[in-house]
Amino acid sequence: MSDGPRPTVRTYTVRHIRAESGELDIDFVDHGDHGPASAWARAAKPGAFCGFGGPGPVKLKCYYADDYLLAADMSAIPLVAASLEAMPEHAEGDAYFEILDRQDQQYIRAPKGIRQHWMVVTPQETPGDRIVEAILKRPWAQGTVQTCIAGERGMIKQLRAYISVERETLTADSYISGYWKVGLVEDEHQKMKRAEADDASPKRRFSILRDYMKTRTISAIWFGR
Ligand SMILES: Cc1cc2nc3c(=O)[nH]c(=O)nc-3n(C[C@H](O)[C@H](O)[C@H](O)COP(=O)(O)OP(=O)(O)OC[C@H]3O[C@@H](n4cnc5c(N)ncnc54)[C@H](O)[C@@H]3O)c2cc1C
Repeated sequence: MSDGPRPTVRTYTVRHIRAESGELDIDFVDHGDHGPASAWARAAKPGAFCGFGGPGPVKLKCYYADDYLLAADMSAIPLVAASLEAMPEHAEGDAYFEILDRQDQQYIRAPKGIRQHWMVVTPQETPGDRIVEAILKRPWAQGTVQTCIAGERGMIKQLRAYISVERETLTADSYISGYWKVGLVEDEHQKMKRAEADDASPKRRFSILRDYMKTRTISAIWFGR
């Protein structure tokens, strides 16, 4: 690989791993043949080749919140499932899932105090809209809130502005990440994310605020830290 062309790379979450048998499970969203990963998964048969690099860092390393807020579209169900399975038994909160078919709903071993909301959306709906609506309606809990949220970039932009700006949730408590973007292949999306991360300037903070103000009135503004 070091002297040849760079292979096509896509990012996926390990859902389960069985070291003793050398197996791991990955849940691919089947979004048709317009992407090498989705196309590969649709056509995969025993013996089909797929190389691996990683793993990347664990997204939420410790759990100490009074209230948990989790959300995923289909691409991030494995992430939120892994977080729910790792949480302490007494954890409380809500987990919102957008799925494309009732059959996409799955059993996740989660603390009893976490309410799971599985919402079936149609292809005509904008990805993430139902999750955003549900989270904005949900009363914000007192105490420490930890989030674990991922999915389409449009949803993430709205929720990041709400969670960071209005609710002043600290970044350390809050995993929130765009996993894909309508109309962009993953490399383009990652490039856009890197450019934004490099731009940790007042301009960046202003753009978060501007996106937020398009949809909501503001009651608190967070510039510091
Ligand atoms: C940390 C991380 C973990 C991830 N874990 C998972 C996972 O476990 N399972 C999973 O399925 N995805 C996961 N993703 C998302 C996945 O990497 C992207 O969806 C990726 O774009 C898929 O590659 P592709 O080759 O199929 O499509 P690409 O070549 O990247 O894109 C082709 C077209 O398909 C569209 N597209 C891409 N993803 C979707 C989608 N989910 N729904 C509808 N249209 C889409 C694009 O907008 C583009 O128009 C993860 C992403 C990150 C950053």
